[in-house]
Amino acid sequence: MRVLVTGGAGFIGSHLVRSLLSPNASDGPGPDAVTVLDALTYAGNRANLGSAAHHARLRFVHGDILDAECVTALMADHDTVVHLAAESHVDRSIGSGRAFTATNALGTQTLLEAAVRAPHPVTFLHISTDEVYGSVPAGSCPESHPLAPASPYSASKAGSDLLALAYHRTHGLDVRVTRCSNNYGPYQFPEKIVPLFITNLLRGRPVPLYGDGAHIRDWLHVADHCRAIRLVLEDGRPGEVYNVGGGQELSNRQLTGRILAACRADWDDVEYVADRPGHDARYSVDWSKIRDELGYAPRHAFDEGLAATVDWYRTHRAWWEPLVEARQTPGGR
Ligand code: NAD
Repeated sequence: MRVLVTGGAGFIGSHLVRSLLSPNASDGPGPDAVTVLDALTYAGNRANLGSAAHHARLRFVHGDILDAECVTALMADHDTVVHLAAESHVDRSIGSGRAFTATNALGTQTLLEAAVRAPHPVTFLHISTDEVYGSVPAGSCPESHPLAPASPYSASKAGSDLLALAYHRTHGLDVRVTRCSNNYGPYQFPEKIVPLFITNLLRGRPVPLYGDGAHIRDWLHVADHCRAIRLVLEDGRPGEVYNVGGGQELSNRQLTGRILAACRADWDDVEYVADRPGHDARYSVDWSKIRDELGYAPRHAFDEGLAATVDWYRTHRAWWEPLVEARQTPGGR
């Protein structure tokens, strides 16, 4: 297997690449070659690849998924694509949605087109999100649930998700789609709630909690997500969608309490801020399909996973401090 990982210098992509190149016995043999295609936006960082960056079977290509020539050339040399490259932060999509539509929708279409035209069959795994279902007042969405995205981010992800499935139906491309819940773990850019709160607390700063903190999310350790990706690659079926959950639903207020405890801080460190416009109240996916068909189950209990994540940020200040400083510098990334 020769795998092209788009967005492989981001949070989830870099974890996937590290795990593909350091397979442990239970995950089976690694691929013959892994290529990362990443534009190194503010969220991409080659350092995220760790020791895998120097692996003999890794190639790094600094390029854009919107570049059809680059993508076509790469497709000729790969039989598998795991497509993670995206603009991924909802708040940024509210500020300015253009890059989201460009990268997430048009970038995905550029890759799909190249995959269809490749000189050999390509398996295309598209990484989507639970946010495409929109807010779920009660129960959990199966894969057949209609999509009702609310933010420019989730709408652009829904567009790319449907495009991917359309390339299966129209062109017979072996497309598989995963829709996962909120990931957490090491190397997550410190703008998302878990690393933002941890790094603020480690710097003695307050944490901003949206509205009344009642919004509910399911939490999935990035290692569990990457194991699910590998299961879908190995045994998933073409044209199928697989929800991936972590089995830990928490309101943002409950999550804040867990992070405060893990960082030995208290509620005085919380600042209540105006709610995000269009903020979905709850996401919840029914992940019984991947459990029953592919034997997936999350292995990381949330409290242990969170404690290990806090420890990682505590001991990797050199990784995140420059990112936080750049965020605060006018004109910084
Ligand atoms: P991330 O923001 O950490 O990483 C995205 C990566 O894509 C970065 O390395 C960036 O440089 C790269 N990229 C952006 N635009 C590009 C372009 N035009 N061409 C090439 N590379 C480009 O994101 P993440 O959290 O690792 O998420 C990865 C994928 O998983 C995304 O598709 C996201 O929608 C999806 N997802 C993430 C979560 C989560 O909780 N993080 C949950 C559900 C789904």
